[in-house]
Amino acid sequence: MATDLLFLRDAYQRECEAIVVGVRDGAVVLDRTVFYYTGGGQPHDTGSIDGHAVVDVRKDGTEIVHHLVEGSPMPAVGATVRCEIDWERRHKLMRTHTAMHVLCGVIWNEWRVPVTGGNMEPLSARMDFEFDPLPEGFAARVEELVNEAILADHPIEVSFLPREIAVVDEALIRTKVSLIPETVSEVRVVDIVGLDKQADGGTHVNSTREVGAFRVVKTESKGKGNKRIRVEILDA
Ligand SMILES: [Zn+2]
Repeated sequence: MATDLLFLRDAYQRECEAIVVGVRDGAVVLDRTVFYYTGGGQPHDTGSIDGHAVVDVRKDGTEIVHHLVEGSPMPAVGATVRCEIDWERRHKLMRTHTAMHVLCGVIWNEWRVPVTGGNMEPLSARMDFEFDPLPEGFAARVEELVNEAILADHPIEVSFLPREIAVVDEALIRTKVSLIPETVSEVRVVDIVGLDKQADGGTHVNSTREVGAFRVVKTESKGKGNKRIRVEILDA
C-alpha cells in the first residue's frame, strides 16, 4: 500500500495521526506520514512516533519505512499512532533546499550553466555545476545574486502536472524532466516564481525571504566541466 506523503502538499505540517500498515525489523510502515525520507539530495526527517525516536526514514517502492530507535516497542498493525517531526531541523532543511533552487536559478540566468548534482544538511550544502573554468570573481558575484533573489521575496508555488504537460514545459526541460520514468503520471513542480522551476519531491519554504542569508564557503574543482560550490545558510 502506497504511503500518503503529506509533505508533498504541505511542507509545514509537523504532525499527524496515521495507521500502522506494516512492521518489520524495528521499523514501521504507515498509511500516511509527515516524515520526509532520504532522497533527492535531502536527508530524512527525525522526530517521534508515539514518543519513540525515529532515527531513519527510507523509501521502499511506494512505502515509507520509519526506523525507530533500538529497543522501541513495535506498534500493532492496525493501531493508530501519533507522528511528529523535529520541526527545527526540518525547517532548516526547507530553507537550505530552497536556497539550492535559488542558486540553480541564479546560475542559469547569469551563466546558462546547468547543475549536475548536490547534497544538503541542515543549513549547509554542496552543489556541482558544469562550469569550465569558474568565472573570475565567481564566489562574490553568486553570493550577491542569490542574496538579492532571496530579498526579492519570490513566492514558491507547488503544483502537480500531468507528465505529458511537464515534459514539454520550457522551464522544466533544462532540469531534465524528461528523465522522469514513464510510469510516473503526475509530476510535482516546485516553482520559485520568476526564478527557477523544477520537478521535485522535496520540502521548501513558502517564499525566498524565509531562507535567510546565503554564503559561499568555498569552491573546488572536481574535474573538467564539474565545479563544486559549498555554501551555508545563515539567519537573516
Ligand atoms: Zn530540489
